[in-house]
Amino acid sequence: MRTSNQQFIDGEWVNSTSQETIEVINPATESVMGTIAKGTQEDVNKAVEAAKKAYIDFRQTPTKERQDMLNRIVEEYKKRKTDIIEAITEELGSPRELSETTHYMKGLIHFSEARDALDDFAFKEKRGDSLIVKEGIGVTGLVTPWNFPTNQTSVKLAAAFAAGSPVILKPSVETPFAAIILAEVIQASGVPKGVFNLVNGRGSVIGDALSSHPDVRMMSFTGSESAGSKIMRNSSQDFKRVSLELGGKSPYIILDDVDVDKAAKSATKFVYDNSGQVCDAATRTLIPESIKDEFIEKAKQNMESVRVGNPNEKNMDIGPLVSRQQFNAVQGYIKKGIDEGATLITGGLGKPEGLERGYYVKPTIFSDVDNDMTIAKEEIFGPVMSIITYSTLDEAIDIANDTNFGLCGYVMGENRENVQKVANALEAGSIVINENAGTPDLPFGGYKHSGIGREWGDYGIEEFLEVKALKGYYAW
Ligand code: NAD
Repeated sequence: MRTSNQQFIDGEWVNSTSQETIEVINPATESVMGTIAKGTQEDVNKAVEAAKKAYIDFRQTPTKERQDMLNRIVEEYKKRKTDIIEAITEELGSPRELSETTHYMKGLIHFSEARDALDDFAFKEKRGDSLIVKEGIGVTGLVTPWNFPTNQTSVKLAAAFAAGSPVILKPSVETPFAAIILAEVIQASGVPKGVFNLVNGRGSVIGDALSSHPDVRMMSFTGSESAGSKIMRNSSQDFKRVSLELGGKSPYIILDDVDVDKAAKSATKFVYDNSGQVCDAATRTLIPESIKDEFIEKAKQNMESVRVGNPNEKNMDIGPLVSRQQFNAVQGYIKKGIDEGATLITGGLGKPEGLERGYYVKPTIFSDVDNDMTIAKEEIFGPVMSIITYSTLDEAIDIANDTNFGLCGYVMGENRENVQKVANALEAGSIVINENAGTPDLPFGGYKHSGIGREWGDYGIEEFLEVKALKGYYAW
């Protein structure tokens, strides 16, 4: 049992004014695995006050000092490797190997990347007789989801620290323990008091308190469209800057000259990874008529070979979904797919055999999906692939862009001209070409309903900066 019922405010662990707690459930066992503080508006007020005080000095720290601070965080983070992996395996239900290779690593990458980005980040620019400076925007509220417990938190923290902005972090109630370990990492790294504050609690309470607070200058949110929209509405009252990383329904355009075996493997992996709880999952698979039967057969084989089970057992591909609510939502979508007339190729309703306890779902494929069906339009956030066939490349591009989302697009093919045509035409913030994952310094974020702004590397740091023009600074 993990009990971590305090908030981290102004450099120390303190009781929440509520004295109440929230239970956290292990999704693989459906049992209570721990409790966290049920934070209040008063907790938020205290954290904002601490961050506001810290801002005055923090924004003026020399870049090298912030770089050293990020480096100390990197070193302390590495010391907590086993704890982080264990916490994420337990709270998210992610298989141990994935907790290490993806979840643990992503946190490490973001802190190291921000540290390295400061090597040549231009905070000052001389223009004529004047000077342009960029400085931390000020107190920022960070609200994060459960699907990548260290990735989503670290990417924001690293960028804010690099920029010189103090923060109040509110992680998801489903996966708070990785964030609590991160708070301990930050505390051990000697981050000045008030620069980092952690307030656990319900989204509606803490999110509202932060986004309505007059001393908060920016909200950086990752999560659902509905909560993002609420944050934006609140923030509009006093013109806070808003950075939003929201959902997706990313298309994977498979061209007709691919190695079908390779394409099917790639397409299924980009659907089931992390149990499908991935904002840029490639859940709409667009294949040419000419390879339909062969592709479906191979995708079916691949999906049926996905090992679903206890995240603590070796060699599992996926564990359960994060919560009962998520399980019910995914079941609802599978039912809609069947009801609206898509062809169920594999998977379907119910739990995989032998996995009655835990929020496990069957990796599922639908074919003959029309882009107007619910399973093609809405984010499912579970391991469910929707196969849509096309006859011309232009038709594929039209279908791919016919969505409210624009987080990511994927293309696989041999013909360079066609691959580049697709990559240029897709309306999305990232395009993955022939499985190339790129590097962590590339910007990440969405078009349309997928969000506002960019994270990762130097683009992420820019989000947390204000720009000041000092006119005639050198003119006398
Ligand atoms: P969610 O919106 O339910 O919760 C996200 C965070 O917001 C949590 O900390 C939650 O407590 C808080 N919250 C909930 N209601 C709130 C409110 N009214 N006001 C303020 N905060 C509130 O999302 P989730 O279920 O945790 O995460 C899944 C969603 O996140 C998916 O839509 C997914 O696509 C998206 N996501 C996007 C990215 C990206 O980078 N674009 C990355 C990961 C997840």
